Amino acid sequence: MSEFLNKSSAKHYSLALLCGGESKRLGSDKGLYKPTGDETLVRRALRLFSSHFSEILLVVRDEDQFKLYEQEIQPANWTDVRIVSDAQTGGDLPRSALTAVYAALAQANTERIIALPIDQVGVSLSHLLRLTEHSGSTLSSAFISDEGIEPFPGIFSKLQTESIRAAISARQLGVQHFHQETGSCLIPAEELANSLAVNCNTPEEMTAFFGTPLADTFDRRLHYLRFSLTEACNLSCTYCLPDGFPEWLRHKSTLNLDAIKNVLTAFRALGFRKVRFTGGEPTVHKKCIDAVRIARDLGFESIALTTNGLLIKNLKDWRSAGLSLLNVSLDSLDDEEFFKLTKNRGAKTVAKLVDDACASGLEVKTNAVLLRSINGNEKTITDMIDWAIARPMTLRFIELMNTGLNSSFAKQERVLGSEIEPFLIQRGFSLNHPDKNKISVAGPSTDYFSAQHLGKVGLINPMSCNFCDRCNRLRITAKGALKMCLFGNQDIPLDMSSPESIALAIRASIGKKPERHNLESGDSGNVSTFRTIGG
Ligand code: SAM
Repeated sequence: MSEFLNKSSAKHYSLALLCGGESKRLGSDKGLYKPTGDETLVRRALRLFSSHFSEILLVVRDEDQFKLYEQEIQPANWTDVRIVSDAQTGGDLPRSALTAVYAALAQANTERIIALPIDQVGVSLSHLLRLTEHSGSTLSSAFISDEGIEPFPGIFSKLQTESIRAAISARQLGVQHFHQETGSCLIPAEELANSLAVNCNTPEEMTAFFGTPLADTFDRRLHYLRFSLTEACNLSCTYCLPDGFPEWLRHKSTLNLDAIKNVLTAFRALGFRKVRFTGGEPTVHKKCIDAVRIARDLGFESIALTTNGLLIKNLKDWRSAGLSLLNVSLDSLDDEEFFKLTKNRGAKTVAKLVDDACASGLEVKTNAVLLRSINGNEKTITDMIDWAIARPMTLRFIELMNTGLNSSFAKQERVLGSEIEPFLIQRGFSLNHPDKNKISVAGPSTDYFSAQHLGKVGLINPMSCNFCDRCNRLRITAKGALKMCLFGNQDIPLDMSSPESIALAIRASIGKKPERHNLESGDSGNVSTFRTIGG
């Protein structure tokens, strides 16, 4: 499956995070500043970027700063993160951003690096991937926008190390000037231009970008919005919407783009950093891709889509709109089983979308729900595992959950995660990540890894284990209500007329977020089917 890895070209680069800049107005070292109170900028950058590059270099000024960063991230625990200092390579040189680039080039294990100042917080993975994808045969690359050449993020080559040293010695320190003089490949920033320029030097500027964090009464920090755009769906899944979506309901259960924009703006102001669009089927909403664009322009770090994939024709458009994570629902690779589950014959189309998405460098997850009488058999389970683990993606088996309309059916049909685990063990999977030092983002999935395979497999077992203590989510329904808990009873209607009215109502209602739901004892709250909230 090297076809997938070769296309993921960022793996050939070191990412140099330039941490040496000083800012007295922040009252702390920039990279160690915690804009949302719980995470330093340097840890945020590792969370966002570390798995996509060959290595990460934290470029610091000197020995003192080296020690501070060492305490913060304990690099000995990381295989692919190193702290390097300007002083090691260019002690005799005047200090500048270009000196930091020089230090990174001199110490990188790759031929080319991408340099990014730690405080350029609007830069997302999309920016960095666009640079690697469009950098031509020239040695260095940078973005160009209406403002002119943007010095960072920029690609630099080891072959330039000595010419950079010469430029620094001659006090030609401007990185913009360097790009111009050396004929860097200039890549139009286009729709990524606004976020490219975000640069925060004061606490106020940080708050304007990151928002004011929201926590509930159980001290859970909330930063993940699951946003249902429409209840309408193009499939008729046996366990969700067996009779298909009634057309007459569509206009009552679909949000317009103004409301969508107001919701997204409000959640950004509340410090939310991840949004997942769901439904119904979110791509049935004609403006779904515009919603993704709006989320990108507002600075959401992670923009995900949960979809059956059948209406996604041009993945490139979705990627350039800002989509970072694609969750595709595919319950069986077998056409007959897929038809029995969905009344559609698109299994192969969906599987092809997964392949295309993997090849495009998107983070991909495939979700499968098993029904004992249709696809909960050994052949389907092992076929799906073998298909998934040959691809750079995560397959997640989700236990069929009770909802108001399906509870006796669900009890009869549910296949437990514990029944799937033996097939993973057989294939050498275990709960140990091959790289013990990766930041693990606690979520509802129990993930299984194997050093032999590209893909990993997760089991989401809501019926057999509760993960409410880690809940970081709020939900908005396609009818414009705030839902505190997936299986809660309250849908709080929101005044969608402005971001301020939405944010105010959320703050006022946050005390109502319950400590936990009681799905294990059969209480699915007011969820009649997942079509109303998307999971
Ligand atoms: N239409 C989109 C899709 O197919 O992914 C988004 C909405 S769909 C309701 C989201 C996910 O919920 C799908 O993966 C679906 O299989 C899952 N789902 C629906 N009902 C479920 C249930 N009762 N238990 C577990 N998962 C369910």
